[in-house]
Amino acid sequence: MPEIPEMEVYKNQLSETVIHKKVTEITINRERALNIEPEVFLELVNDQLIVYVSRRGKHLIVTLGNGYYLIGHLMLGGRIYLAEPSEKLKTQGSVILEFLDGRKLYFINLRLGWLHVLNEEEMDRRFAKLGPEPLSEFFTLEWLSENLSQRRGTIKPLLTDQGFIAGIGNCYSDEILFGAGLKPDRKANEINPKEIKQLFSAIPKVLREAIANGGYMEKPFRLHDQLTGGHNEHLKVYDREGQPCFRCKGKIVLTTLSGKKSFFCPSCQQ
Ligand SMILES: [Zn+2]
Repeated sequence: MPEIPEMEVYKNQLSETVIHKKVTEITINRERALNIEPEVFLELVNDQLIVYVSRRGKHLIVTLGNGYYLIGHLMLGGRIYLAEPSEKLKTQGSVILEFLDGRKLYFINLRLGWLHVLNEEEMDRRFAKLGPEPLSEFFTLEWLSENLSQRRGTIKPLLTDQGFIAGIGNCYSDEILFGAGLKPDRKANEINPKEIKQLFSAIPKVLREAIANGGYMEKPFRLHDQLTGGHNEHLKVYDREGQPCFRCKGKIVLTTLSGKKSFFCPSCQQ
């Protein structure tokens, strides 16, 4: 499932390509991905300019000229593709937005994922329970220390809890814990101050590095896209069961914590 780095890469690429473009045609092949009737969706989105593209947690936020927001969550298996006018895609999109220049933005495979139209108040309500953005100024060492001390659960599932910190999932929680040198089954309130510092610096470091490398999801965003998915070969522990640790040459193992898969190095994570 895409996490902050993958959604940031989409956000950046969309910002470069579709801002100030007008939506001139919409195809809806999966009504269940929407929160409103298709006719209302067309009414609110068609003929609108794309004003801005942003992100909150794992959500993509497209601001429309009429003040409404198109909010996308890709969940498992969903992806986004921008097709040139001449391109014929083999995949059918769940929702397709066509622009004045003939390019088409495909939201593909929104089976669990969705694309909702919300006004500002509805959007604020939707995001009210999300934790802070780990790449924002609201995420501080003091905040992390205080909030870890109040949690009795293990650190791996806690890092993926969207109400604790927004935007981190299964892949980057493993990468972050490796970066911080912490075992995934450590109790959150038993992590000592020195380790909290390690965790605090690992979180933005791991996320920023992954963004710079294009995230780990290998499906391209557009033709000749060399960026998207570039981080896959830089992952240190995620999906590397049985392979040697890059830090200590120990063997990466896979465990399950509260139903979450967790890859880690038992030799150099404490
Ligand atoms: Zn190791």
